[in-house]
Amino acid sequence: MHILLLGSGGREHALAWKLVQSSQCTRLYVAPGNAGTARCGINIDLSPLDFEGIKKFCLREDIGMVVVGPEEPLVKGIVDFFAGDAALRKIPVIGPSAKGAQLEGSKAFSKKFMARHGIPTAAYGEFSVDNYAEGITYLQQHSLPVVLKADGLAAGKGVVICQSTIEAVAEFELMLQGNKFGEASNKVVVEEFLSGIELSVFVLTDGKHFLTLPEAKDYKRVGEGDTGPNTGGMGAVSPVPFAGEEFMGKVTDRIIIPTIKGLAEENIDYRGFIFIGVIKVGDDPYVIEYNCRMGDPETEVVMPRLKNDLVELFLAVGSQTLDTLTISQDERTACTIVAVSGGYPGSYQKGLPISGLDQLLPEDGDSLVFHAGTRTENDAILTNGGRVLCITSFAETVYEAVDKSRDVLENIYYDGIYYRRDIGYEFL
Ligand code: ATP
Repeated sequence: MHILLLGSGGREHALAWKLVQSSQCTRLYVAPGNAGTARCGINIDLSPLDFEGIKKFCLREDIGMVVVGPEEPLVKGIVDFFAGDAALRKIPVIGPSAKGAQLEGSKAFSKKFMARHGIPTAAYGEFSVDNYAEGITYLQQHSLPVVLKADGLAAGKGVVICQSTIEAVAEFELMLQGNKFGEASNKVVVEEFLSGIELSVFVLTDGKHFLTLPEAKDYKRVGEGDTGPNTGGMGAVSPVPFAGEEFMGKVTDRIIIPTIKGLAEENIDYRGFIFIGVIKVGDDPYVIEYNCRMGDPETEVVMPRLKNDLVELFLAVGSQTLDTLTISQDERTACTIVAVSGGYPGSYQKGLPISGLDQLLPEDGDSLVFHAGTRTENDAILTNGGRVLCITSFAETVYEAVDKSRDVLENIYYDGIYYRRDIGYEFL
């Protein structure tokens, strides 16, 4: 089968690496891909948002399955586009319909969904310019800290945790009246602050059944010891030591099952990944957020731990027969460290030559190199984004896995290379 994968990050390289291990994948195309995906399949110069271009490509290249990496094509309705076209309808697209993608695309939608289905989450209020004064009163009476969230997609920057009422009111005004996040902040969710430890839970669903993939914990802050500004993610570990069987049982019963049932009851077509950002408060799980795709860099530890044939899983998603399969996973610990461009998440240079990769690719014993922001020019591999490379290693313990990834990074160089040396530090 010819498969088309949309996206260009470390997540997509990890998915590409996994897809081509299946005997059912005879050819993989990645649109637009990076220097790493080019080693797994054929990169094509096509935007994941160019639905007409994707249609032409699928028909011309006899594509049998489309796998969507990032959220934007899903929120913009790529699944509905395929379902609404007679020539494309037979091609399974891994990802939810636009309505299902609202779980990520609108925080107000996801909060209401959780309320309707009794899924544990922080108490909240929803405000727009129409009930602005009510919002101010709500904030003045709210305990501190208080969390303000722009309703729509804001590239991971739309959440502000305010320590004072003055700060919260100013932020509320900026979001609603100052258009801080454009249309994304036309509505604002004001939420109770939950104090606990976070993890990422990944579910693959065919709309009727689901399978839970290995969980992971990511590290968002740029600095060691979780300091400095937020990033797309600086590393991840899987499994998560504090997510034992009893806790994961609560996640399944209180969150995953009601989510899948809720989607079905509301006739929302959802065939793809659900990424649930969970916070453990005491011994109980609460939902911080839903995402309608896999996480990055979590995919770079989840896919290596997954022993199943990914194409087989995706075919079962398309035919709604996921109940015939079970998940099989590597019991070792996987850790990924993300190497970023100097200056990231602020401004940074692109186009810098990367050296030291040749000795390592495609596999170096227990370590794997996944590319994120890279591109090929002539024979050289150049940096092409904030997050550049993700080094995943396997070991029996977090300590050893982190150590192996750091060892690999010792041999890789580009001007300004930076990475956290303390991924998984609280478990060491
Ligand atoms: P992402 O970049 O993961 O997509 P996002 O912009 O969609 O993020 P959230 O995941 O909802 O936003 O929130 C970002 C971070 O803010 C969370 O990972 C969490 O650390 C913190 N956060 C959000 N809501 C709460 C809350 N109610 N209590 C405590 N912390 C919170």
